[in-house]
Amino acid sequence: MVTRRGTVVPPVMDFRALSRNSKKIRTSIVLGSDYERSEWIQLGEIMFRENDRNSRGTWLLGAYLSNATDFEHDAAWLFKMELIGVRFTSCEYGQTSFEGWIKSDNGEDFRIPPPDYNPLKHKGTSKCDGTAKEYCKRGEPHVIVPEGFYLPPENPELFNIVRGRRIEVTTGLYVKEEP
Ligand SMILES: [Zn+2]
Repeated sequence: MVTRRGTVVPPVMDFRALSRNSKKIRTSIVLGSDYERSEWIQLGEIMFRENDRNSRGTWLLGAYLSNATDFEHDAAWLFKMELIGVRFTSCEYGQTSFEGWIKSDNGEDFRIPPPDYNPLKHKGTSKCDGTAKEYCKRGEPHVIVPEGFYLPPENPELFNIVRGRRIEVTTGLYVKEEP
């Protein structure tokens, strides 16, 4: 979609069903400039941290798939991307907000899947009952996504639309009931 000002807007993606704790935590990611803002991603729990050592100043924003691991029983990613210029903007009413710019120089690190992404429904998906202590790090039943789904695939088409653009992230306790 293209707005009146000629900005390309990617489709809204609802990852609530695939992300962790979406009944308790709600996160909204808005793609924006000073004049135009558009809802981009909705989900539950996110993870957000500054990269260490040589990558200080770049931040990792991502989310894990709910109750799913790769074949090594490590949590599998729903998405991840790198931000720069991160700035804390507010914390009020139980909601924390920050903004940042999508790092524009490396499409390999940009792993936002298409809206219909769902490795949990892949036919190669299996289950672990969580009881094998010698190799299961989870210790409770979970899904194992097929090899190659630890991360979503690269998405150069979407990366070219959003690279270098500002996002606003608001995350916190979910208090409103669904209508
Ligand atoms: Zn396991």
